[in-house]
Amino acid sequence: MAGRPPKDNSRDKQYRVRLNESEDRILQYVSEMTGKQKSEIFRNALEDYYNKVRVQEAIQADAEFDDWDTGHISLKRVIDCPYCGAANKCDFEEEYEPSYDERPMGEEITYNFDWESYECCSCGKIIHISGYICEYPAGAYNYEDINVEKVEDDE
Ligand SMILES: [Zn+2]
Repeated sequence: MAGRPPKDNSRDKQYRVRLNESEDRILQYVSEMTGKQKSEIFRNALEDYYNKVRVQEAIQADAEFDDWDTGHISLKRVIDCPYCGAANKCDFEEEYEPSYDERPMGEEITYNFDWESYECCSCGKIIHISGYICEYPAGAYNYEDINVEKVEDDE
């Protein structure tokens, strides 16, 4: 008699993922806000990335997919004012300088921005917001670095 077939969903692979302080904070935050387990958040992100890579692979390999527009990642971010802490709606889509790199799965796009005098929606003080958001493959988030600085003196 044949043994029980192995369960498809048995999770017997283990990865240790190293996080820095701020990554750990955001993992804690998204877990609390969504009510999802931390492991689930990693698995969801992996599947999302996998699907985007599949789409990009198909576009590159098959002329049938040439007209498939994957769209781009969102450049919307909530930026906390360094003066008063208010949440500011920033859509870097409004003003950025793109740079492109050719990678194995097509173009890597970096959206660079340097907003020198952004006015806080709440206290009206001037903030300097600069940095970049990187997309690779097309339609998938890669990484980002956003710096927020006070422009006026604090007195
Ligand atoms: Zn403010």
